[in-house]
Amino acid sequence: RRAEFAQLRDLPAVTRDGTRIELMVNAGLRDDAAALDVVGADGIGLFRTEFQFLVSATLPQRERQQRLYRDVMDAAGERPVVFRTVDIGGDKALPYMNVDANGEENPAMGWRALRLALERDALMKAQARALLEAAAGRTLNVMFPMVSEPWEYDQALLLFEEQRRWLASRGRMGPAAIRYGAMLEVPALAEMLDQLLPKLDFLSIGTNDLTQFLFAADRANPRLAERYDWLSPAILRFLRRVVEASLAAEVTVGVCGEMGGRPLEAMALLGLGVPRLSITPVAIGPVKAMIRSLDLAPLRALMPVWLAEGKGLRAKLQGWAAEQGVA
Ligand code: PEP
Ligand code: MG
Repeated sequence: RRAEFAQLRDLPAVTRDGTRIELMVNAGLRDDAAALDVVGADGIGLFRTEFQFLVSATLPQRERQQRLYRDVMDAAGERPVVFRTVDIGGDKALPYMNVDANGEENPAMGWRALRLALERDALMKAQARALLEAAAGRTLNVMFPMVSEPWEYDQALLLFEEQRRWLASRGRMGPAAIRYGAMLEVPALAEMLDQLLPKLDFLSIGTNDLTQFLFAADRANPRLAERYDWLSPAILRFLRRVVEASLAAEVTVGVCGEMGGRPLEAMALLGLGVPRLSITPVAIGPVKAMIRSLDLAPLRALMPVWLAEGKGLRAKLQGWAAEQGVA
């Protein structure tokens, strides 16, 4: 079906009944921005900045970070790029950094991502400066990983705003605008959305970590890989709550975990009202084909019924998709 997907490249991700979905890619390397044109995506919804740190033999200095970010934005052109601040630590330990994950029994739940970055704030400040200067004169989209409580988001935002003021005080050009977002991948944060959402420009749900924490099931353990279904009622009910709270607060909400890269799972997410997906580039074709063959309104009406019934969701979604002729 490769030729069929290629034909969709220049067509928008719009449902049969006219809802435009933002379909973006997950990326991490300089060359990934080129994939935007190859697959026909609306932007980069998750740029994993830690890749540069993981492939480097030494800590990437600010200038090197800045060059990467600028190159990626240049390649993306008018399309948005959402930079995620470093998600290192835990099992993504760096030989040149004095971050010892060996002492941690559960590195996925350890001193990683924002937890590490807010304490090692020289690292975070350098990254903030690199992003702010790379985005001089344009819009910077930045999001923070593993936010577990709203104050962590506040502190990260403050750090960025301080760097922005510092640049301005030196007469250096910063971004024309900044849009700040948080990742929702720690379940506790879902309870605090009333306090968090008013401060956000966007929320991005990281279903890889979120589902491992919801089910207490290590995402890297192959023995558990098939045990819990992304289309389980627990996950979909949880996501519905987050999506509805975001939409009610008029905060753009998206999903950037691997779940959105599978057409049936992506269909379920749209059925919950998710307007933005960020997925692996090879999944853009199949997911776009699904979107363009989908009548969203009837699915939106059915989802609450199926969620209330609370079982057999995969079969119901599959059956409905087949009956409706969804690709
Ligand atoms: C996630 O956790 O869903 C996510 C998108 O981030 P990562 O896979 O990099 O942890
Ligand atoms: Mg994650």
